[in-house]
Amino acid sequence: MEKQQRKANIPVSISASVSITTCRSFWKEKTLQRMTRKEWELLCDGCGKCCLFKLEDKKTGKVRYTNVCCYLLDLGTCRCKSYKKRDLLVSTCAILTPKRVAQFHWLPRTCAYRLLCEGKDLPPWHHLVCGDRNMIHHLGHSVKAKVISEKYIPPDHLESYIVDWI
Ligand code: SF4
Ligand code: SF4
Repeated sequence: MEKQQRKANIPVSISASVSITTCRSFWKEKTLQRMTRKEWELLCDGCGKCCLFKLEDKKTGKVRYTNVCCYLLDLGTCRCKSYKKRDLLVSTCAILTPKRVAQFHWLPRTCAYRLLCEGKDLPPWHHLVCGDRNMIHHLGHSVKAKVISEKYIPPDHLESYIVDWI
C-alpha cells in the first residue's frame, strides 16, 4: 500500500432516551436534511464502526478500516464516553451533519446515514425497525468484542490492524 494518512473518525450519534414510538417511520417520510435533531440522533444504530481508525491510500483514495478504536469509545456499549465534548477531546472526530453526510463516502456500508443518503432503507436489525437496540450486537453488526483501543496500539503500527469485515 502507498503512503497512508490517518483518517478522521466521526461521532457515534446515540440518544437512547428519545422515544422510538413517537417517531415511527420518520426516516421514510423525511429527507436527512428535514429531520429534527432528535430524529437525526435516533438514526444512529450505535455500531461504533465510524470510531475506528482508518487509513487512506493517498494515490487511490481508497479507505481501509482498522480494528483500532478511539480511546473514547466504550467497548461495552459501542458508544462515545463523552459524546457532548467529543469535538473538544478528539480533534480528529469529524462531526457528521445533514449537510456533510454526502461527503463522508467512507462511512461503513451499514451506516444508517449512508444508507438513507444513498436512497436505501434501514436494515431489519436496525433498532428503529426491530425495536431492539441490542439486536445489532446480537447479530454481530457492531464492533462489540471485535476491536481494541488506540491506547494499546502505537500509531505507526495501524497498518497491521487493517480489517475487511467492515
Ligand atoms: S470522540 Fe471518539 S469515540 Fe467519541 S464519537 Fe468521536 S471518534 Fe467516536
Ligand atoms: S457508522 Fe453510522 S450508524 Fe454506525 S455509529 Fe457511526 S454514525 Fe452511527
